[in-house]
Amino acid sequence: MDDQGFRFLQQLLETPSPSGYESRIQDCIAEYVQSFADVVERDWHGNLMAAVNPQGHPRILLAGHCDQIGLLVKRIDEQGFVWFSPIGGWDPLVLIGQQVQVWSRHGPVPGVIGRKPIHLLSPQERKKVPQLTDLWIDIAARSREEAMERVELGDPVTVELGVRRLANDCIVGAGVDNRIGVWTVMTALQRVRALNPQAAVYAVSTAQEEIGLRGIRTSAFRIDPAIGIAVDVTHATDCPNYNQNEHGEVGIGKGPVLVRGPNVNPEVHARLKRIAETSGIEVQHYGLAKPASNDANALQIARQGTATGLVTIPNRYMHTPVEMVCLNDADAAATLIAEFCAGVTPQCDFTPRW
Ligand SMILES: [Zn+2]
Repeated sequence: MDDQGFRFLQQLLETPSPSGYESRIQDCIAEYVQSFADVVERDWHGNLMAAVNPQGHPRILLAGHCDQIGLLVKRIDEQGFVWFSPIGGWDPLVLIGQQVQVWSRHGPVPGVIGRKPIHLLSPQERKKVPQLTDLWIDIAARSREEAMERVELGDPVTVELGVRRLANDCIVGAGVDNRIGVWTVMTALQRVRALNPQAAVYAVSTAQEEIGLRGIRTSAFRIDPAIGIAVDVTHATDCPNYNQNEHGEVGIGKGPVLVRGPNVNPEVHARLKRIAETSGIEVQHYGLAKPASNDANALQIARQGTATGLVTIPNRYMHTPVEMVCLNDADAAATLIAEFCAGVTPQCDFTPRW
C-alpha cells in the first residue's frame, strides 16, 4: 500500500462511525474520492455512493460498510455514571479496561470502562463472566447534572480510535472491520478508472451493516446493479485454538479470500478466480454454506437479484479493539476487483451455471 493509500486508511480508522452515526466518515470518504469519481452522492439513510462511468452498462455495485460496532448512551445515573447499550456484537470481556470516547454534540468526552479491582472481587465474582449489562462508562462526572452537561442520551461511543503498524505490513486498530473494506472498494474504483471500464462502477460506503445489513438494501435499491461485490473482513483462522476443520483455513497476509457457496454467483466467482490466476494475485479460497453475515447477503437478493461476489480480508480478533489485518491483502483485493470490473461488458452472462 502506498503512502497516499495508507493516509486514507489512517483517516478512516481515526474517524468515529458507529452504526447510524456515519456522517463524519462519509465526509472523509467524499473528500478522498472526489478527485477520481465522476459522481459522489449521499442519501438520507447515510450511504455514500461514488461512481466511475455512471452511464456505462451493466451497473456494478462494490460495497464496503463503513459503520463500526460501538456503544450508545442509554442512561445517566445519579452519580453521573453512564450506562450503555451495544451497537453491534461486542464481547463484554474485551470492553473491560478500555478507554472510550463519548461523541457528544460538543465534542469527544473521554471516559473509561472500569471494573472492580481484582483485590476486591469475591471468589464467586472472580469466576463469573461479566455481561454487557454489568458494565458502565465513567466520565469522571460528580453527578447526573454534571454528566448531562457533557453527554446526552443517544450519544454514540467508541473505544479509542487509531491505527498501529506491526511487522509484516500488519496493522491493528478498532473498527478495521470494515474500514479496510471501504478502503478496498474506494481504491478499486480509483484503479478501475485507468482501465476504462464499459460497465458503470459504483463503490458504496454502506451504512448500518453491523445492525442488520441495512445500508446495502437502500443503496442497492437506488443503484439497481446487475452485478455486485461485497468486501468485508473474515476470520483469519491461523491463530491458536481455532478449529480449522469447522472454520476453514484462512491466513493473514496470504491474500484476499474468494468466497464460494450459495451466496455467490458462480460466474462472478469463476471470473475473480481466473483474474487472480492470470494476474498472479495470491488469493485464498473459502466455502460458505449459508447466506453471509455481511452485505453480500442483502446485495444478492436486492430487487430482482444481483450476481454477487464476496471478497474478504483476513482479520484476527474481529470485534475487539485490536483487530489485525495485513495491508497487502487489501491492496491485492482492490487490484483484483478493479480488473474484474474492467472485464465486465454488456455481453457478459451471469446466469448461474456450475
Ligand atoms: Zn463487517
